Amino acid sequence: MDEILKQIREEHIIYAIEQLDKNRWGKKNNSSKFDLVHNGKTYPPKMIIRHAGIKATGEEPVKFGGGKESNELLMKFGFTVVDKETGLPIGKKQRSVEDLRDRQLEQELKNESQNIERILGSADLSATEKKELVKIRIGQGAFRKYLLAVHTSCELCNVNNPLLLIASHIKPWKDCHSEERLDRDNGLLLCPNHDSLFDKGLITFDGVGQIIISTDLSSTDRIFMNVLESMKIMCTNKRKKYMNWHQTHVYKM
Ligand SMILES: [Zn+2]
Repeated sequence: MDEILKQIREEHIIYAIEQLDKNRWGKKNNSSKFDLVHNGKTYPPKMIIRHAGIKATGEEPVKFGGGKESNELLMKFGFTVVDKETGLPIGKKQRSVEDLRDRQLEQELKNESQNIERILGSADLSATEKKELVKIRIGQGAFRKYLLAVHTSCELCNVNNPLLLIASHIKPWKDCHSEERLDRDNGLLLCPNHDSLFDKGLITFDGVGQIIISTDLSSTDRIFMNVLESMKIMCTNKRKKYMNWHQTHVYKM
């Protein structure tokens, strides 16, 4: 690194920004790839660093590249640098799906144990009722965890943020007897969009998992709701039983 760069402090950068605001050095040397963003205005990072260096030492830093070196120095002092092509701040990584999944499962586990504690602490329930409710709670948690582990995204599209994924029942919860409610083969992992369509019977699936689309869904809605004739889910024999039920009782021809 250029020795001059090591002398640069935040106030030197602010000074350079102010000078550029006064149009001291004209508009030349505009950066093509990155922008420093400060108070809603954009500045060429390399030019700012050069003038911050002059302010700090009285000399012009010469042994430094634009791009990474300037950007890193600016970010070290908490400034935001954006990639002009994507418009996104650099150095801020998107959280990975794995991270999101871990955080979400952790949160769900926390909610789960709070719910169970509430049931156990309730004065209105008998011991048998408590036992029954706790069993259901644990079963529901396992049902969702299983689906999230097997399918990492919506079974119809690629939405994979676990916050958005819904573990729904093929044969609806209200129509199930207790075993069916916790049967993993009765589960389907969908994004809110596709879950809503399935729940309202606007789509269903045949014996091999091919989508069947209700005539109630207009061609415009199909486009905006991302429904394609070619869509397919995995349909095991066990799933088929529930899917037949859905097709007969929920699906709107
Ligand atoms: Zn989807």
